[in-house]
Amino acid sequence: MLPVIALVGRPNVGKSTLFNQLTRSRDALVADFPGLTRDRQYGPGRVGGFPYMVVDTGGLSGEAETLDDLMARQTRQAIDESDVVLFMVDGRDGLTAADESIARDLRTRGKQVVLVVNKTDGLDVDQAMAEFHSLGFGVPRAIAASHGRGIAGLMDAVREHLPDAETVEAEAERWPGIRIAFVGRPNAGKSTLINRILGEERVVATEVPGTTRDSIFIPFERDGQAYTLIDTAGVRRRARVHEAIEKFSVVKTLQAIDAAHVVVMVLDAREGISEQDAHLLGVVMDAGRALVLAINKWDGLDSDQRDRVRHELDLKLPFLDFAERRFISALHGTGVGDLFGHVKRAYDSAFIKVSTNELTKLLEAAVAAHQPPLVRGRRVKLRYAHQGGQNPPVIVIHGNQTDRLPGSYKRYLTNHYRQQLDLVGTPIRLEFRTGE
Ligand code: GDP
Ligand code: GDP
Repeated sequence: MLPVIALVGRPNVGKSTLFNQLTRSRDALVADFPGLTRDRQYGPGRVGGFPYMVVDTGGLSGEAETLDDLMARQTRQAIDESDVVLFMVDGRDGLTAADESIARDLRTRGKQVVLVVNKTDGLDVDQAMAEFHSLGFGVPRAIAASHGRGIAGLMDAVREHLPDAETVEAEAERWPGIRIAFVGRPNAGKSTLINRILGEERVVATEVPGTTRDSIFIPFERDGQAYTLIDTAGVRRRARVHEAIEKFSVVKTLQAIDAAHVVVMVLDAREGISEQDAHLLGVVMDAGRALVLAINKWDGLDSDQRDRVRHELDLKLPFLDFAERRFISALHGTGVGDLFGHVKRAYDSAFIKVSTNELTKLLEAAVAAHQPPLVRGRRVKLRYAHQGGQNPPVIVIHGNQTDRLPGSYKRYLTNHYRQQLDLVGTPIRLEFRTGE
């Protein structure tokens, strides 16, 4: 699974500044999807060939009385589920009692901790670092997050604790067939849905070993097609889970999205689309995953209510117009079987292979129907296209002045390819190369 880096420290030490630095590469992708909600708490990043997920825990104040509240619990959960903790302190404030309290807490958790001293810009670094040695996490790393300074060196140290991209991928590839993750916020109906699916299907292996921090992979078959379900809801160990809030894990959800071929987003028709839903969908988009929307609890809604839900989907999730929607009742089983048709189509679309010849012909047809605009008196020329990747399909278009192509024309090309290649349920990425 994608390794997780947790940012821990008291308020104002610079966690969200570092978070932005570590996840910066996302901005370029997300910019293509107007209306997409960004999340400032968790997101994917990458240094060299090392992918990771960063979680800004935000919630540790180091004060004893807050330790039992919900935020602190979720912070603890994120720490427990992480592979590496970046413990941030503030070089200007010096060592505080709150830092010491957090340090004590971290020591009991047996995690890999890298101590990071931030805001060292304009300070005598050796002097600023000296007092932090006493925290007992080895040699601290000096950075200035807001200046981007020291971050490359810090990540070199962190990388030693991370598996590389091939290892992460190979781990997921051990599981057969189409990997599906059912994600959604607590109480959307994921467990009910998973139980229904597994109740109906032949589960190849019932007990798959895994530690509590791992999601469980459950292979099964349906209509001769192999699938592996990634269970983020902890269905298979429900008995050990006492509280609803704790069975939902942001980290597991994000890792499952990363490991899946197709994500089934379970939405609760009775609750509408929440901020949390939109954030999760943003992560799915960032990851470029194929997606099916399962709008659950469709039973017992009258036609006015149903219209309202449909309207809300159009309004709040316009950037997901490529995803197929299925209205289901996990409780009664209605529509559940049909989900697999959508999943299969989304998978096939995500992994489509198209020849350079065909992509170029489609490009020529698109250009013939609609010329690219003139830029400074010269027409943008689009010459040929080839496929640059799968899951999601990447179409690389070669031409002149392609960097000046307006967004509206790129959307036109995307829609043209989508229609002509009959791609549903997967995002498509266009890349442009100029100058040949
Ligand atoms: P968080 O509460 O831990 O998430 O902290 P923030 O990232 O919001 O940062 C708190 C304040 O410290 C902001 O005003 C930042 O601009 C500032 N800050 C963050 N990193 C640095 C740094 O490297 N140097 C300086 N001088 N200020 C910083
Ligand atoms: P999870 O937290 O996403 O795993 O959600 P659960 O599967 O535990 O379901 C939360 C609650 O919603 C439970 O009380 C379920 O019985 C109920 N529920 C789940 N699916 C449906 C459905 O299709 N219709 C109705 N009416 N209730 C449902």
